[in-house]
Amino acid sequence: MATTDQAICIRTADYSETSQVVRLLTRGGGVVRLLAKGSKRPRSKSGGRIDLFAEGRCVFGGAGREGLGTLMEFAETTTHAGLRADLDRLHTALYMLELCGALLAEDDPHPEVFDLLHNALGRLAQPDSAPPAVLAYFQYRLLRHAGLLGAMDACVACGAKVSLGGVYFSSSAGGLLCRGCEAAEPEKYAVSPAALAGLAALAAAQAGRRPTFPQKQAHAVNDLLIYHIEYQLGKRLRTARYVRQAK
Ligand SMILES: [Zn+2]
Repeated sequence: MATTDQAICIRTADYSETSQVVRLLTRGGGVVRLLAKGSKRPRSKSGGRIDLFAEGRCVFGGAGREGLGTLMEFAETTTHAGLRADLDRLHTALYMLELCGALLAEDDPHPEVFDLLHNALGRLAQPDSAPPAVLAYFQYRLLRHAGLLGAMDACVACGAKVSLGGVYFSSSAGGLLCRGCEAAEPEKYAVSPAALAGLAALAAAQAGRRPTFPQKQAHAVNDLLIYHIEYQLGKRLRTARYVRQAK
């Protein structure tokens, strides 16, 4: 049975001289892994070689239960070409794809994450957007959706409001730690005033409305969230080091 869905390509690999295996984040079905037979031929039925960030309507069959399905059609509606305008945009976008691939299991639907990625890539492709701020919003919302964000406004151990100075974040404890509680926790990350201010701006922002904050705060939030994500995954993300330097 064939499925039709909206999809964004988050990973590609060559499968043979003429075919690719692609990982698509679909809106209705989550991440699916598909064989795109003959996609590297110029006039293939699936619509030609599929690149990262390609977004469009796809028709596929046979996927599910971790198996490799078959991509039958891919009608690209946007290439998000502006992402390739400079390296900071490109690296930030690549990191977002890696993050979706790492955090989402296959065949597990997350329409909100599809919309989040669609909007973030669209914003990042616009020349007036600031990649660190777009990424901070993306990471924050993605973690919140995945239930991984943790306690970011009060101490996770005692519930006290955290104030500037001596604040830590513990990934294993699941949130911020106040000055009085941090000593008992071996795994922790020192949270800067800039990170706290950025987190407060993100928490106060309404859904779908990106807060504007200084680049320093965006970077501080991103560094903290990357630390948290890598701890949760138990591994380094390949593209994370590039976004740490993005402007
Ligand atoms: Zn505490």
